[in-house]
Formats: sequence, C-alpha cells, structure tokens
Amino acid sequence: MSYLPFTRPTLDEDTIQGVVETLRSGWLASGPQVQAFEAALSGYLEGRPVRAFTSATGALEVALQVCGIGPGAEVITPAMSFAATPNVILRVGARPVFVDVDLNSRNIDLNQVEAAITPNTRAIMPVHFAGLPLDMDALYALAGKHGLRVIEDAAHAIGSAWKGRKIGSFGDIVSFSFHPNKNMTTIEGGALCLTDPDEIKRMELLRFHGQAKDEEGNQDVLLAGGKYNLSDVAARVGLGQLRQLDGFNARRRELVARYFERFPAAPSCLLPRREAGHSWHMFAPLIPFEQLGITRQQFVKAMHQREIGVGIHYPALHLFSLYRQLGYREGDFPHAERIGRETVTLPLFPAMEFADVDRVCQALGEILGGA
Ligand SMILES: *Cc1c(COP(=O)(O)O)cnc(C)c1O
Repeated sequence: MSYLPFTRPTLDEDTIQGVVETLRSGWLASGPQVQAFEAALSGYLEGRPVRAFTSATGALEVALQVCGIGPGAEVITPAMSFAATPNVILRVGARPVFVDVDLNSRNIDLNQVEAAITPNTRAIMPVHFAGLPLDMDALYALAGKHGLRVIEDAAHAIGSAWKGRKIGSFGDIVSFSFHPNKNMTTIEGGALCLTDPDEIKRMELLRFHGQAKDEEGNQDVLLAGGKYNLSDVAARVGLGQLRQLDGFNARRRELVARYFERFPAAPSCLLPRREAGHSWHMFAPLIPFEQLGITRQQFVKAMHQREIGVGIHYPALHLFSLYRQLGYREGDFPHAERIGRETVTLPLFPAMEFADVDRVCQALGEILGGA
C-alpha cells in the first residue's frame, strides 16, 4: 500500500509543458506570464484588480503597509491561524490583538471582536479558516460601524464563495496564498486584491523597490519598497492551476462528502462545519484525545504505521513563545486552545480516490476504537 500524504499538488502535462516553454522563452522574471496570470485571476474574481506576489506572507505585509498600519496601531486577528497572520502585524510594528474563534466554524468569533476594539484599533485581519467563508455581512457591518479596515487572510479560500460571490471578488483587501499545500499553487506565491486606484499604485510600489517612471521614462524611487514580484515561471504554473481550480475544488467537495458518510460515529469527534461555498482546503476534525486515553503523537504514529499522513493545523497562536511575550497565556482563548490540542488534518487532495477516504476512516476506527 502506498503512502497517502495529507496533501499533494496536482500538476497536469499542459502546465509542465507551459513551464518548459517559459524556461525556453528567455524571460524568467515578471513578464508576460505574470500579466496573463493576473488577468486570468482577475477574471476568475469577477474582474476585481489583482496583483501577484512571491508569497501571501509578503502580500499581507504589503496590505498592512498600504493601509498605513505601523507602530501604535492594533490589528484584531484570530488566535487560531498559521503564524504568518499575526507575524506580519508585528513585522510592520503594530500589535496583534487576538480574539477567540467559534468552535464549529474555527473562524474568528465576530461576537467577541467588538469587545477587543480600542481607540488604537485600525484593522481586522480575519482568516477564512480551512476555506469556510466568514459571515461577510456581519464582518463588514462591524468594520463599517467602527471605521476599521479589513484585510482578509484568504490563504485557504481560493474558490470559496459567500452567498454565491467568490471570496476576493468583493470586500476591502483580500490576500491569497499559492503555496503547494493550498488549493492551487504557483510553487511559492500569493496575490492581493484591492480596488482603490491610489492604493493599487502604492501596492505596486511596495511590491517592487518603490520604483516609478514618468511619461518620459525617467526613473524615480518614491518609497522604500520591498521585492515581492512573482516570476514568469511561477505565474505559468499558476495559469495552469487556475484552469483546473474549479475541478480541484469540486473533487475536494466529493471527497469530503465521502468523509462525512464514512467517518466513524464513535468516538464522538467534532467534525468541521459543512456549508455551501466551502472550498475545503482542509478536512480537520477535532478528536477528544484526552478522553480516549491516547496522545495525539501516538495517534499520528499509528496513522503513519498505516501509511497515512496527518497534519496539525494549528497550535493556538497565543501560546507560542513570541506571543506569550505580549502577555498572552493559557486560558485566554479556550476554543483556539481546544482546537490546537485536538485538531488533525486528514488526507484531502484532488488526486485522491474514495477508497483512500475509506482507508483513512477505517484506520480511525481501528486506532480510536468504537467505545
Ligand atoms: C499558508 C498561509 C499563509 C502564508 O502563505 P505563504 O504563501 O506561504 O506566505 C498565511 N496565512 C494562512 C492562514 C496560511 O495558511
């Protein structure tokens, strides 16, 4: 039986051929493929302006800079996410203010956001966790009421939709990741969506050395920009992936339906919330390890012995050393802490078969028991 990883990218022959052609084209850094990729991505997102980046981490950092967020500012963000989300807030000199997540959706609990707002709060940086969209009506009503910017970390949510509208096609600033583990990839890469023409100009300056040209072609440097432009080789991968994205996500939904059908009824695990518009970046149930008298490490090891990979996404952010230094401690965010202890990411990627899901579910039954 071959090893089943928890995720694996799918690249078709057309994409591989396209990459070979790009390598032979004489143009490797940002050029025609990046322009084509940005145009295709914008088309996918209902015409919203989009710019490609070398990573979502870089895109999120630039998004904060576009909003003028720096020292003295606070940004509200969930205690359950990947470290990149709060890290970039610190990197621009601002302070991440954590809020707990809802146990079922794993998304930031919007009912608790209001209590975290202070006169220094400038933005909310939520995450569409595992691809499940936030309640966008409630999010933007809250941000509007308090005059806050919203930077959506949509790293998990390319292809997700809220009330039939794609995440990224609307809203304030939206960031995507194209890391190989995400629903589509450019190897490494990300993208930023925003609308205001002056802010788009500023984003482009921050993306590439702050360099501008006037009508006569004279160069000027307007600000100390970074270096986050995507390569044409990576963009060609992205073009191929984008064509397959809806098929990938449809396949993810079919596999998740199979998980719900075959998931052992006992012991009682907290399965992720199922909703229309979910792009299923991950399928991550919570398993009550303490109650079952087994540690998560033992569980992961037993799965590996059965040739099945398991991921952990993620430990609660506020309990990492860096964030404890800001004064956070155990007990601050009970839901994020429980998710951090009990979550396991089970195999889910488009090339999987139903038989793979069945194999995972059988292993779960054997290891966790039915009591
Ligand atoms: C992957 C991820 C990022 C960072 O994406 P990169 O493209 O690897 O920089 C940010 N936020 C979340 C929630 C992620 O999962």
